[in-house]
Amino acid sequence: MEKKDIKSLTREKLTAAITQMGLPKFRAGQIFSWLHQKNVKTFEEMTNLPAALRTQLSEQFYIPQLKIVRKLVSRIDGTIKYLFELPDGERVESVLMHYKHGNSLCISSQAGCRMGCKFCASTIAGFTRNLVPSELLGQIAAACEDSGQRVHSIVMMGIGEPLDNFENVLDFLNLLEDEKGFGMSHRHVSLSTCGLVDKIRELAQKKLQITLSVSLHAPNNERRDQIMPVNHRYPVEELIAACKDYTRITGRRISFEYALISGVTDTDECAYQLAKLLKGMLCHVNLIPVNEIRERDYKKSSKESIRRFAGILEKHRLTVTVRRKLGADIDAACGQLRKDSAQTGR
Ligand code: SAH
Repeated sequence: MEKKDIKSLTREKLTAAITQMGLPKFRAGQIFSWLHQKNVKTFEEMTNLPAALRTQLSEQFYIPQLKIVRKLVSRIDGTIKYLFELPDGERVESVLMHYKHGNSLCISSQAGCRMGCKFCASTIAGFTRNLVPSELLGQIAAACEDSGQRVHSIVMMGIGEPLDNFENVLDFLNLLEDEKGFGMSHRHVSLSTCGLVDKIRELAQKKLQITLSVSLHAPNNERRDQIMPVNHRYPVEELIAACKDYTRITGRRISFEYALISGVTDTDECAYQLAKLLKGMLCHVNLIPVNEIRERDYKKSSKESIRRFAGILEKHRLTVTVRRKLGADIDAACGQLRKDSAQTGR
């Protein structure tokens, strides 16, 4: 029988598996706490379980581990970038950032990405597979253990499209919030999507307290089609309609990510169109000077253009921030380490 990944099971699923083995329910609680609060790496360490049970568990399940294969620390601001190896040899990255209000960890949701955004490094090395809940959680556990630091918030903005890995991401969010697990409130979680409209609608029905970030990056179909293939499937008007419904159903503000690419998305016309598109919405706009990657010739906007663009939005009463770049010396943009490691085999 193939062994099952025990750490990917929510408390409910673990309890079902344990009772199915003919064991009392409280054993599930004990095992869950060993796995998620004490972060044990073997069943042997679960010392309040009978030895026979520990053996039985190790015959049916395994506890997956992430291995750190590279670690880069920024000399500028202490940002740490990890390249992790998953049990099957796949590699993903996470970035630990320090802010005044606490530490934030940016995690990956897939090994690669199939969304194909033109400016993004994550798509270049190709898509291999979805990450399972234990691998999403494992990035947090490994970063905390290695750095000795606490993580106060999670952003799902690393490699991959979280809503393209919907079930695993939902189980991860369940495990993350479980008071007998990691115990992090969903209010400290941001999930970023390129705009999979049907999944945004499904997510709204779950009424989670997470912050939804939507990577808009262009205010009209002509421009968005050019840089984000997903727009052919879900055009701007359908995306905005779903976002409006999302804010109405959940009562939560949406954060729109907008990458400023010189001459492509940073024109005055784009700013006016964006202001019109988002008028009256419960939202926030986060402007990101595009991170230039070697494989593409997109250039980031000048400081002057960024100021101008933000000014137009503010005049239209939108709340706007410009993302501060952290870890500039370690290439902290998503997907770059995985891509380089796939290309060089290191
Ligand atoms: N797939 C999800 C989350 C991963 S990317 C999404 O699309 O939202 C996280 C954010 O970084 C997205 O807003 C993405 O569009 C943006 N991004 C990717 N490459 C970038 C680059 N080179 N410069 C600036 N932002 C980038």
